[in-house]
Amino acid sequence: MSRGLKVWPLLTGTIRYEKTLSTHNRGHGEFIDAPILAYLIETANGRILYDVGCDYRKVADPALRAAYFDPMRPTVEPPVMHDEQRILRYLARLGLGSTDIDVVFIGHLHFDHVGGVCDFPGCEVHVHADELAAARTSRDGSVFADELVDAGSWRLASDEYTLAPGIHAIASPGHTAGHMSLFIELQKGLPVILCGDAADLSENLAEEIAPGSCWQDNQALALDSIRKLKSLAARERAQLWPNHDMAFFQRLPTFPAWRD
Ligand SMILES: [Zn+2]
Repeated sequence: MSRGLKVWPLLTGTIRYEKTLSTHNRGHGEFIDAPILAYLIETANGRILYDVGCDYRKVADPALRAAYFDPMRPTVEPPVMHDEQRILRYLARLGLGSTDIDVVFIGHLHFDHVGGVCDFPGCEVHVHADELAAARTSRDGSVFADELVDAGSWRLASDEYTLAPGIHAIASPGHTAGHMSLFIELQKGLPVILCGDAADLSENLAEEIAPGSCWQDNQALALDSIRKLKSLAARERAQLWPNHDMAFFQRLPTFPAWRD
């Protein structure tokens, strides 16, 4: 049976912001240091990336960094990303290159999830159609329009689907219009659900708190997605992995170790 074989959480950078961005109306004046994560998934049918972190150039070049990230202050500080945290560097440590990735699956189109797509030219990129349509309206300040330039060649999903045997795209809108999480069956351990930004922190899941920023301010939709992911996890005995929770991330296997 060809299921997901291995999952590597990849720390592609960190970002410091007011906690209210993760927990709606909670954490005013409190700043957190959040991991910016991507996940490499190996299956018998090929390799998938869930999210690709920031565009390294926008973080490394002082002029670009100021242009893109200064407007987000003081709520969000510019991301910190070292060269060795680029996904290409992690892949190289496994003896792999960009062409060894079969699918780049983007959970949503915020800069800290899609920016790194420029490092995977020609790769098959998947995103939900509603996500792209909303991102193109320019109404979401966390979307950088230049990161959508190749979107014409992306594969647009209109519903939930199976990317590879045992790897399922799960609709979890709310934080953004077409947000998708990923359910991963593994051969050895419990299945894993990559929540993406449907749940930044364990607190979002445990206490059912909507993300701080929701598309069209629809917190109810985001809460529905949190409850949907929780009931899926309960039904399938799966682990929920929140996406910007440093303490949770630090309990996951450290690269090059993996979860299988
Ligand atoms: Zn986001």
